[in-house]
Amino acid sequence: MTAEANVGVVGLAAMGASLARNLARHGNKVAVFNRHYSRTEKLINEHGSEGTFYPAKTMEEFVASLTKPRTAIIMVKAGEPTDDMINQLADLMEPGDIIVDAGNAHFPDTIRREKAIAARGMHFVGCGVSGGEEGALLGPSMMPGGSEESWKTLKPIFESIAAKVDGEPCVTHIGENGAGHFVKMVHNGIEYSDMQLISESYDLMRRALGMTPAEIGDVFEEWNKTELDSYLIEITAEVLHQVDHKTGKPLVDVIVDHAGMKGTGTWTVQSALDLAVPVTGIAEAVFARGLSGQTELRAEAQKQAFEGPSGVVPMAEEDKIAFINDIREALYASKIVAYAQGFNEITEAAKVYDWKIDLAAVARIWRGGCIIRAKFLNRISEAFESGDANVSLLFAPYFKDAIETAERSWRRVVSRAISFGIPVPVFASSLEYFDGLRSPRLPAALIQGQRDLFGAHTYQRVDEPGAFHTLWTEEGRPEIQA
Ligand code: NDP
Repeated sequence: MTAEANVGVVGLAAMGASLARNLARHGNKVAVFNRHYSRTEKLINEHGSEGTFYPAKTMEEFVASLTKPRTAIIMVKAGEPTDDMINQLADLMEPGDIIVDAGNAHFPDTIRREKAIAARGMHFVGCGVSGGEEGALLGPSMMPGGSEESWKTLKPIFESIAAKVDGEPCVTHIGENGAGHFVKMVHNGIEYSDMQLISESYDLMRRALGMTPAEIGDVFEEWNKTELDSYLIEITAEVLHQVDHKTGKPLVDVIVDHAGMKGTGTWTVQSALDLAVPVTGIAEAVFARGLSGQTELRAEAQKQAFEGPSGVVPMAEEDKIAFINDIREALYASKIVAYAQGFNEITEAAKVYDWKIDLAAVARIWRGGCIIRAKFLNRISEAFESGDANVSLLFAPYFKDAIETAERSWRRVVSRAISFGIPVPVFASSLEYFDGLRSPRLPAALIQGQRDLFGAHTYQRVDEPGAFHTLWTEEGRPEIQA
């Protein structure tokens, strides 16, 4: 076989086939390989006319059909299958060739794989891809890591297929080794938080205000014309307007209230714990999905018939309108916190893993193709570009102003939700984070005292440098020791 393809795709299930078609539609010559040839055949039979494909029956044929430096994108099941494909490719490739893993790998795996492949003289690129099957076909947001050198080859290929916003492709080189998969992971964490916040807004309107799903859908449609304009708000309106063909009920009412998850939210929180970065909104969103899945525990709780507020809260029409407005403000403020926390996690990880990540560029490539695409990412990108958000997004004037405008509404929503007995874990934890930041003194001083008393862990003083330990006497009269 002569080498003619400038890029290849390994793994032709939903994601890989869509990506291969997207590549071919944009003028790339695409080698394709799948473990079972039937998927390759299906792709060629159904979509072969969309561009130039080189179907391969074996990995040897696949590699032989690629021009140098060979570029192969793996899109198979995460975990062992990905390692298998990497090893098979690496055994057939040569120094300078590029292996891309575009699946949802955990970034420590990407760091490990990059090290092993780099030791063999080849490039390994972990690339986060967001937007699902449709994004892969029509234009995803892409977050490649790996070496600067590999980026030179990948740039024109990835830019040809990525989503475009204002003519700019939603792809940038994120940073070395695992940086791309790390940023994709945090993207997913923010997505969890955003989805939970929208759901908490829905729940308040549904349960406290007694609105129907269609009425709430109308509200979200209106909100989509404001600063909340985003893909997730748009699809929320669509979901809430959907009627179940079988029962004639709102579809949302016949869907089991157990939210699934595949693990990227959990990874985001685990990494944040390792880095000691509070991503409270994301963590609460993951826990909320966890609670939704504890079906037996929840069924038992129902049997307990606990006392507590429930049901629609009687409210005059104008109060209802004011409360809906409060919810919109609270949603915006909490969403800003979710992004601030997510970007904070990226900043801290970049220090630990020695990545140089351009946060303005990250915000820019999230504007299109991905699930969290939103109008306000323009503002986020500007805030990082100007340096205003270097410490926290919350301190950039535009977002500080937005938070201050929303603050009273935000408190009203959280305090009223608590009094109504409706859980709002992400609204509340986002507000708690904000109040924590605002506090000139935190009770952490007391915790340091406790730690020193029971474990001689020492503490620092406000008026003198150094570590101190108190000899906590039986009489309770401390002596200070430097
Ligand atoms: P799946 O995750 O369902 O995996 C199926 C593909 O993996 C098939 O091509 C299959 O080959 C191949 N495969 C499975 N086991 C092996 C093995 N041991 N050796 C070789 N090949 C194997 O496919 P998807 O298209 O849904 O997802 C692909 C990747 O993309 C995954 O990593 C997933 O996490 C990620 N993904 C990303 C999304 C996003 O929005 N970014 C959304 C969905 C997925 P065969 O046909 O021969 O069985």
